[in-house]
Amino acid sequence: MRFPLALTVKIARHIIKHKLRKTPKFALVLQLEPLHTCNLTCTGCGRIREYSTSLKDIVPLEKCLAAAEECEAPMVSICGGEPLIYPKIEELVDGLLHQGRIVYVCTNAVFMRKKMKEYLAAIYTPETEALLKKLLDAKLISDKDAETIRKGRNDGRPVIRPSKWMYWNVHVDGLEYTHDLIVEREGVFKEAVEAIKMAKVLGYQVATNTTVYKETDVREIEEMFKFFSWLGCDGHTISPGYDYDAAKKDMMKRLGRKSEDFFLTRRMTIEKFAQIQDWGRAFTIFGTPVYQEFLSGKRDLTCTAWAIPTYNVRGWKAPCYLMTDGHYAGYQEMLTKVNWEKYGVVNGVARDPRCENCMVHCGYDPSGALGTNFQRGDNWKNFRYNFGAKPKPYPEGHRVNAFNGFSVGKGHLAVAKAAVQRASAPAGGNNGDGKPHVGTFCGAGDSDAPPTPAGQARGTADVAVER
Ligand code: SF4
Ligand code: SF4
Repeated sequence: MRFPLALTVKIARHIIKHKLRKTPKFALVLQLEPLHTCNLTCTGCGRIREYSTSLKDIVPLEKCLAAAEECEAPMVSICGGEPLIYPKIEELVDGLLHQGRIVYVCTNAVFMRKKMKEYLAAIYTPETEALLKKLLDAKLISDKDAETIRKGRNDGRPVIRPSKWMYWNVHVDGLEYTHDLIVEREGVFKEAVEAIKMAKVLGYQVATNTTVYKETDVREIEEMFKFFSWLGCDGHTISPGYDYDAAKKDMMKRLGRKSEDFFLTRRMTIEKFAQIQDWGRAFTIFGTPVYQEFLSGKRDLTCTAWAIPTYNVRGWKAPCYLMTDGHYAGYQEMLTKVNWEKYGVVNGVARDPRCENCMVHCGYDPSGALGTNFQRGDNWKNFRYNFGAKPKPYPEGHRVNAFNGFSVGKGHLAVAKAAVQRASAPAGGNNGDGKPHVGTFCGAGDSDAPPTPAGQARGTADVAVER
């Protein structure tokens, strides 16, 4: 099965329960942003810009747990900012698991190994030595780390343990060169790979999440799937970039660029995602096949943003993860007060101009799962996709030139920064020298939301670069 049986059954039950009750709108995935602080400061990050005045604020643990209970979403995607900075992330994961929810921790992976070492210290017994040896042999931990682990940990706090109900959801927007440019820090891709390797040794479930932008080379995305599938990742989420208002304004002001230089229009999205169904056959791509048909331009869907609500320091964000027209104190209050008929694209006509180019997962993947634009055969398609055999790890993934950039310290970002500065001067659609740029934004493309029961992602940064 592409998605574990217990998890699929949980989500199916939730949908059937609400269909039987004829609940008009209900949540499938909660996007929980306990904070907007991040350890990276990616250029153009929509999230840290939109909430720049509340970067130091956090949502108290009790409020996070209460939000999940209130909306009753069977899946919670903990995002941000960087959720591993949240001071009570362990308690939050633990609390959500105790509520019986499927938990995705969406991370840039920089602190993942730290959290897994804490887990090892908490479970340490002499039998753990075999695991430590494996990790030491693979150079995933150091001798010093092993010594610290052997001292154990008994501070009474929970740790993030491997669980069939929990996924690390690691942000990767390409292979090394592209990804490190997007997050604007060398070594982040390498750290993500090491963290994923360590997670798989320890028995965690790992998904990757990727946003596709105008400059994304889809051939590279396919290579990326091969590589991460070979590493043993349990699934991949992918979504098109969206001209996220906050990021767009920043980029227009700072770089003097038009949004169409960076973001996908509907037509471009359909072109970029032309192969999504082939990818779905070859790799464990999360997301309903109905959503995949939508992305590849084979059908229409209506936005169901209310099914993936976002809760953060200001409350319930409406209408969606991407656009902000208001924040509400309660999920039900948001459902009743927002005029949902104002949003989305219906029969090719954008009800709100800001929705015109949006095909993102957090608006449309639930539509595929909820059957809002039901066509004969859809249920069978979704069933066959989820219950069909899980694609095997790509056998030749070791041949992928994943580390195709420069290793830490070689300074390829210096080239990018110079290009950004050049681009700051009013320019057209390139770097002023006819060479292409790369443009991406955190939270721009989509959400960190997990599959429904197969779905997506998060965002990144922007940098103009010459290759
Ligand atoms: S179409 Fe996209 S931008 Fe518009 S409300 Fe839906 S998810 Fe948000
Ligand atoms: S783009 Fe993501 S990783 Fe970068 S600053 Fe924003 S939240 Fe952090």
